Amino acid sequence: MCGIVGALGRDDVAPRLLAALRRLEYRGYDSAGIATLNGGAIEMRRAVGKLAALADVLAARPLSGHAGIGHTRWATHGRPSEVNAHPHRAGRVAVVHNGIIENFRELRGELAARGIVFISQTDTEVVAQLCAHLMEEGAGPEAAATGTLARLEGAFALAFLFEGEADLMIAARRGSPLAVGHGDGEMFVGSDALALAPLTDRITYLEEGDIAIVHRAGVHVRDAAGMAVTRPVRTVSLDSVLVDKGTHKHFMHKEIHEQPSVTAYALGHYLDQGRGGIAPIAVDFTRADRVVLVACGTGHYACHVAKYWFEQIARIPVEIDIASEFRYRAPPLSGREVAIFVSQSGETADTLAALRHAAPLLGQTVAVVNVAESSIARAAGVSLPILAGAEISVASTKAFTCQLLVLAALAITAGRQRGTIDGAEEARLTRALCDVPGALNRTLALEPRIRDIARELAGARDALFLGRGPMYPLALEGALKLKELSYIHAEGYASGELKHGPIALIDAGVPVIVFAPRDALFEKTVSNMHEVMARGGRVVLVTDPAGAAEAGGD
Ligand code: GLU
Repeated sequence: MCGIVGALGRDDVAPRLLAALRRLEYRGYDSAGIATLNGGAIEMRRAVGKLAALADVLAARPLSGHAGIGHTRWATHGRPSEVNAHPHRAGRVAVVHNGIIENFRELRGELAARGIVFISQTDTEVVAQLCAHLMEEGAGPEAAATGTLARLEGAFALAFLFEGEADLMIAARRGSPLAVGHGDGEMFVGSDALALAPLTDRITYLEEGDIAIVHRAGVHVRDAAGMAVTRPVRTVSLDSVLVDKGTHKHFMHKEIHEQPSVTAYALGHYLDQGRGGIAPIAVDFTRADRVVLVACGTGHYACHVAKYWFEQIARIPVEIDIASEFRYRAPPLSGREVAIFVSQSGETADTLAALRHAAPLLGQTVAVVNVAESSIARAAGVSLPILAGAEISVASTKAFTCQLLVLAALAITAGRQRGTIDGAEEARLTRALCDVPGALNRTLALEPRIRDIARELAGARDALFLGRGPMYPLALEGALKLKELSYIHAEGYASGELKHGPIALIDAGVPVIVFAPRDALFEKTVSNMHEVMARGGRVVLVTDPAGAAEAGGD
């Protein structure tokens, strides 16, 4: 995840913006930049790589100015380069952006048709160009920013700075976190309270859809409907700032909502955007006789999903193992396998022990981990980061999604290397992966409905989860989550297994949660649903719009 900071200060802000960006380093980034208003004019410094590189540029060419914005970028659209680094500038506007603008192609096309020339490959530049264009047409900064925001689709946080407006910053939040900091005659914005901690401990968290008009004298917030609202100013203690959950009730909720942005970041890392495929990964599947996937808990279910992908896409045999089993059952190894060890923390004891124990006997070893410097990452031949950002909740959510994304990239790579898919099929699969952040956004928008269903399920003592194909391990993962978090007993089954025993459990008191997109297996799963309903069971169908239309129900 990248970071945003901004300041309307009483002296030169660039050094403080750089310090605040350092506090966002934990989120990961590939380039950084700062813009200030120097004598009313926008000036920028940007650099690829670590903040030290930006610090060097600033040391050589310091930036003065009492108003400024800064950014650490994790590229999702356009490779990491100085020209793609933020801030992005057009006309009288400079913008920093976290997240993705889903409809940037359409907007870019519109603006290009009016003769506007784009300098970068980012989705962000359309924000700056559109805002500048509205100002050219006569809009003031606030109207131009509001007009721009009204056109944007996606999940993002943004901060705008305007030439000649030394006492104005506009910040907006939709899908990505953003906070406003209150100083003494100074005001700040930042991705989280941690970034703002050295500047102030008085924080206003923006709510979803909010636009904040920030002046040194204070902030005016308008909600998604454009109504003026008052958001509380909280004094945040350092303890809570260290790991901050913003407006979310708990970390798990926060992490669930981070899925669109973290999957977008991970995609930025694993895609070759020029070619429309997966970027090279240093694993050779051509000399492998099979894939071995080893993990515990949720990671194991991610492996189980990936088994379907490796088999279908790359036609390579796959074994999946729970780490503790793999370690003790001494499986026969050929030395030609690609063995993939999956762990969020990269420290899972059983997985690490399995890797250490088997590494001398195995062919290539690959770590799929969230913590890049972890023991499992270091012990494996190749380490692939899942780039989910810190996951605090014990019940894994966004790490699971990002594990799946990296495993999908690996399965596509395996298919390409082994010649089981061609370039066109790789491009098709890659496009499907690129839809993931948007699909997650659309799913998260269903939260109120999901909350109502959860309320209905809360009274159950037992629940069943069903799915076929890759939905089967998702049913196992769903059951695990329900058990772990609600203490409701839950089991996951392959839908086809229903009639071989579990059906005996079904009555009105046992909800059955069915995962079934509208695919080749849909009809079969629908018939399982009817079996359940015939016994008075309650079914919750989790599907796509086509599946929902076909299945009827509410
Ligand atoms: N999508 C933007 C880009 O690629 C922002 C990425 C970020 O959140 O750092 O530049």
